[in-house]
Amino acid sequence: MLDINKIRADFPILKQTVYNKPLIYLDNGATTQKPQVVIDKIIDCYTKINSNIHRGVHFLSEQATLEYENSRLLVKDFLNAASTAEIIFTRGTTEAINLVASSFSERYIKADDQIIVSAMEHHSNIVPWQIVCERKNAVLKVIPMNSSGELMTEKIAELINDKTKIIALTHISNALGTVNPIKNIIELAHAHNIPVLIDAAQSVQHLSIDVQDLDCDFLAFSGHKIYAETGIGILYGKEKWLNEMPPYQGGGDMIKTVSFEKSTWADLPLKFEAGTSNYIGAISLGEAIKYIKNVGINNIYEYEAELLSYATTLLQSIPELKIYGTAEHKASVISFNLKNIHQYDAGTLLDKLGIAVRTGTHCAEPVMQFFGITGTIRASLAFYNTKQEIDALYEGILRIKKKF
Ligand code: PLP
Repeated sequence: MLDINKIRADFPILKQTVYNKPLIYLDNGATTQKPQVVIDKIIDCYTKINSNIHRGVHFLSEQATLEYENSRLLVKDFLNAASTAEIIFTRGTTEAINLVASSFSERYIKADDQIIVSAMEHHSNIVPWQIVCERKNAVLKVIPMNSSGELMTEKIAELINDKTKIIALTHISNALGTVNPIKNIIELAHAHNIPVLIDAAQSVQHLSIDVQDLDCDFLAFSGHKIYAETGIGILYGKEKWLNEMPPYQGGGDMIKTVSFEKSTWADLPLKFEAGTSNYIGAISLGEAIKYIKNVGINNIYEYEAELLSYATTLLQSIPELKIYGTAEHKASVISFNLKNIHQYDAGTLLDKLGIAVRTGTHCAEPVMQFFGITGTIRASLAFYNTKQEIDALYEGILRIKKKF
């Protein structure tokens, strides 16, 4: 089991007070805090090895390139990908999904084709596909969900037909916390030869992911949500697709040869890494993965599940509090509203108690439309959170209720 005091000591920001109150950070779905080892690694890179990667023959460039490629290897092992050729560094989940939407559709999608997403997607896994639909005259279809915030998976077979070219689906809903049965959905899609992209922005930091076992075709996540720097992310893609897809952007690093008559592309994964990448961010991601491996992703999962269950029971005991997202299989997110209290007022008052929660639509407006609300208060947990912090959230809500 986890030694929470030791873990909390690894995250310097958690020692802070805000408004003279200990910081209680429950906005981990938006971004996570960084352990000292990751911060040290970034400082180390800038003080010792900073130099553009893949370009120089000099010592610093070689060191930076080595570290960058070692991070790719760490990500490959973390996801159990078959090869580092399948691991592409991007700016984040959003860019990874845009890369697939743009490049996959260029190669495989034509007029009247169909793309399936789900009712609980983040805007990042809706809008890129809408842009494709507009450009290609294709059609976006949506897997519906029920009032518990669970996908109605029995409807997927009805949505699929000869024109379905890809299914893009979130693993865990950032707005509701639902864990989707992606393995079953991938199996169903593959029975119809349809590839599946998994948005793992909210899952890779909470549970173990094995892309070969899942057999997903693409998977995207963001470094900043998994204890690394901002501006770095991962697109995993099966080589068979990536080899066929045209480059997403042109520029340095993604070419083999360039002439005014014709240019040729670098082999995978560099074919999709145009320009100077956020190599220090990539190195920080490798360090974050090492840190998580040390703690143990399964330990993290178990501890967070216990926290979620504790928080759910406590918050449910408040009669005027309604939780959105009551799926049987959930992870680390509680979205709720308080009767007759606007979520922004509640969020602002919690902030004054030192409690950081998210309020609003969580970049999932269709989810809010489904429930007929303008937003929620979202507490999203990480493995450095404690039951005492959940108690403080509960007490805070009781105080707000009294005030109103
Ligand atoms: N997908 C999901 C499920 C998310 O929760 C988020 C961010 O909150 C994203 C995509 C977008 O991530 P990023 O802004 O890091 O690209």
